[in-house]
Amino acid sequence: MNFNVDEKGYYGEFGGAYIPEMLYPNVEELRQNYLKITAEPDFQKEFNQLLKDYVGRPSPLYFAKRLSEKYNTKIYLKREDLNHTGAHKINNTIGQILVAQKLGKKRIIAETGAGQHGVATATVCALMGLECIVYMGEIDIARQAPNVARMKMLGAEVRPALSGSRTLKDATNEAIRDWINNPVDTHYIIGSAIGPHPYPDMVTRFQSVISEEIKSQLKEKEGRENPDYVVACIGGGSNAAGTFYHFLHKPEVGIIAVEAAGKGVDTGHSAATSKLGKMGIIHGCKTLLMQTPDGQITEPYSISAGLDYPGVGPMHAHLAETGRAEFFSITDDDAMKAGLDLCKFEGIIPAIESSHALAVLNEKKFKPEDVVVISLSGRGDKDLNTYIEYFNF
Ligand SMILES: *Cc1c(COP(=O)(O)O)cnc(C)c1O
Repeated sequence: MNFNVDEKGYYGEFGGAYIPEMLYPNVEELRQNYLKITAEPDFQKEFNQLLKDYVGRPSPLYFAKRLSEKYNTKIYLKREDLNHTGAHKINNTIGQILVAQKLGKKRIIAETGAGQHGVATATVCALMGLECIVYMGEIDIARQAPNVARMKMLGAEVRPALSGSRTLKDATNEAIRDWINNPVDTHYIIGSAIGPHPYPDMVTRFQSVISEEIKSQLKEKEGRENPDYVVACIGGGSNAAGTFYHFLHKPEVGIIAVEAAGKGVDTGHSAATSKLGKMGIIHGCKTLLMQTPDGQITEPYSISAGLDYPGVGPMHAHLAETGRAEFFSITDDDAMKAGLDLCKFEGIIPAIESSHALAVLNEKKFKPEDVVVISLSGRGDKDLNTYIEYFNF
């Protein structure tokens, strides 16, 4: 079975490009060029150089000794938290800004919810000297003040989305409207493995550096390229797609995807798409989507802003539907506890998104000889207030 995108832009029955006609030229330009551009030697050279010197790659593959003893298995952490800007998102924004330059674009737009993708986009625009406009819901602007300040310091303009629930989906609508109105000079940087084809595949390819590095690092540490399991959290699914990519067609590698159960899968306050989602269309692709019986998108909930999304990328919908990946839904409480455990056992404060992936260690029993690689997608600095409020520090 093929777990990558097919020529038509689908992962099994998921994916495609469901977009308004007026967006077609922009998306089609990207579709026709992204593979050609990214395969060019000078693109490869510049991308790899920036990943090395600017982002700080390769990110370490760290053997977590005390955590391994606690769970009686071999646990490695892929340290995306050590990247510049504190998470994996920069891998993708570097790739997309280079594609935008090759396409001759002068103006970059993005949408952001919690602000992490907005910051990563503002960062690469400053790096390349390109104009940057980030759409953000008015409510999110109020509750994510530090990231708004970061984007402004980096020279980006933050435009409030004032319609609907004034959160991520409304910011996305504004970004799409902007792109329709500026088809020639503007590139839209999407921050996860979602959106119309070719975005999920393009983002996955840029993030696939994660599993590429895991292979050579494991070879050095364990004498083999393939772990027994790879584990990653899923919001839209970009860190997971990058972590899984080179193992998708290695049946000996177990793939574990972790989504947010919020206050509990059946409480009405969750983001557990693999359990609650039905086929639907969101942000230009067909995928699993939390929705009401008449097809309205359900408001998702998670304590973690990065996992607070009502769908999953089409690759992951396919992995769920075919059973290639095992999905776990982790509650706020279990994630927070696992996050604090990592602090106490390894001296690493993880992003709350990453804490969801870590919580799988309490849900699934691994064998002592198993090599389990967990994607530590980001660092916890941005979540300090949430940790403080939750634990009453
Ligand atoms: C944004 C974010 C996520 C979720 O996004 P994916 O596209 O699913 O990877 C996970 N972890 C961190 C640290 C993030 O910033």
